[in-house]
Amino acid sequence: MGRFIYLDYNATTSTDERVVEAMKLYFNKLYGNPSSIYKFAQEAREAVEAARSKLAKILNAKPEEIVFTSGGTEADNFAIKGIAYANKEKGNHIITSKIEHHAVLNTCKWLEKQGFQVTYIGVNKYGIVDLDELRNAITDKTILITIMHANNEIGTIEPIEEIGKILQEINKQRITNNKPRIYFHTDAVQTVGKIPIDVNELGVDLLSLSGHKFYGPKGVGALFIRKRTKINSLLHGGHHERNRRAGTENVPGIVGLGKTCEIAMEEQEKEEKKPKALRDRLEKAIVEKIDDVIINGHPEKRLAGTLNICVKYVEGESMLLNLDLEGIAASSGSACTSGTLEPSHVLLALGIPPEVAHGSLRFSLGRNNTEEDIDHVIEVLPPIVKKLRAMSPFRKGREGGLRWDTQKR
Ligand SMILES: *Cc1c(COP(=O)(O)O)cnc(C)c1O
Repeated sequence: MGRFIYLDYNATTSTDERVVEAMKLYFNKLYGNPSSIYKFAQEAREAVEAARSKLAKILNAKPEEIVFTSGGTEADNFAIKGIAYANKEKGNHIITSKIEHHAVLNTCKWLEKQGFQVTYIGVNKYGIVDLDELRNAITDKTILITIMHANNEIGTIEPIEEIGKILQEINKQRITNNKPRIYFHTDAVQTVGKIPIDVNELGVDLLSLSGHKFYGPKGVGALFIRKRTKINSLLHGGHHERNRRAGTENVPGIVGLGKTCEIAMEEQEKEEKKPKALRDRLEKAIVEKIDDVIINGHPEKRLAGTLNICVKYVEGESMLLNLDLEGIAASSGSACTSGTLEPSHVLLALGIPPEVAHGSLRFSLGRNNTEEDIDHVIEVLPPIVKKLRAMSPFRKGREGGLRWDTQKR
C-alpha cells in the first residue's frame, strides 16, 4: 500500500502499544474468572479493581461509582433507560439535544415508543445548546437531562458545568417541594482522555466513556454512576459489578481501559497540542484555497483535533471516495450515518440547509498525524473539489437560488 493518512480519530483510534502489552497477560496467563474464589482468579479480580481505580482517578470519582460496559453505546443506553425505568413513578419526561450521538438519540426515540416523553433542545449556529430553551423545557415530570460533553461530528464542547449548576439550584427547590430530582447524564465519549474531566465540577450524576476513542481497546467502556443514584440494570444475571451489570468481566479489555486512562492522565495535555496546531493549519489552508466553504463548530470551544467543513456544490461522499483514492481516510460526519443519504442531523440542527449539509467533510486528527499528512491533504483536496464542482448539477444554481451565506467569523 502506498501512502496512508488517517484523519478519522473521532471514529476510532489505534490501541496504544503499551495498552496492548498490559492486556496480553490476561488472555492466556491470568485468565481466571474474577468471581471465582481461589487465589489464581483473585489476580484477575485485583487487576479489574486496579483498573476501576484508574478510571475513578481520571474522572475524580470513587471506584465504586464506576461500572464497566461494552463501550459508549451500552453506557448511554444503561444511563438513559436505567434512569427512565427506575424513576418512572416520579415522572416520564426526558430532555436531550438535537445533536446527540445516535446511541443517545435512538435510545430516547425508543423510550418515546414505551410511553416516555422526550424534548429535543436546539443549538445555536456553533452547536452550543440553548440554555434558556433547556430551562423552559423542564416540567414537574422531568427525571433526566442528557447532553453530550463534546459533539463527535463538529467537536463543539457543551457548557456541561453551567447546566450542572442550573440543575443543582433547581433540584434544591424540587426536593423541598417534594418533586422528583432531575438526574444529569453526559456522553463524554469524545472528551475523556482529551480534556481534563472532573465529575464534581461538571455536576453530573452519570457519565459515559469508551476506550477506543482515546487509544484504548474496542468493546470496552464505562458508566460513572454517582452514589445514591436510582438506576435500573440493563443486563440481568449474576452479581457482577455490584449487581448493576451482569456478565463475566471483559478482563483484558478492562485492564486495557485502565492502562489507557493512566496514560491519558499523564499525556493528554501534551497530546492535544499537536493535533490542534495541525488542525488550525488545515483549516486556514482550506479557507484560503477553496471558495464557498463553511467551517462548522465553535471557533474556540471545540475539540483540538476536529475540523468539520461544508464544501458547497459537492457531495461529501464523492469527496471521501476521491480522498480515499489518495490514501486519505476521513469522514462525512459520524461513522454511524455514513452509508445513508440523509444529511447529518447535527449540521441540520445548526441551521445549515440540507443541500449544503450534504457537502460535509470531517477531518479528525490525532497523535500520529504529521505536517506532511496535512500538506498532502492541502495539496489534493482543492483539485478534487474543482473536479467535482465541474461535474456538479448544483453548479448552475450558483448564480441563482442555491445560496447559503458563508458564516463570517
Ligand atoms: C463513538 C461514540 C459513541 C459510541 O461509543 P462505542 O464505544 O463505539 O459504542 C457514543 N457517543 C459518542 C459521542 C461517540 O463519539
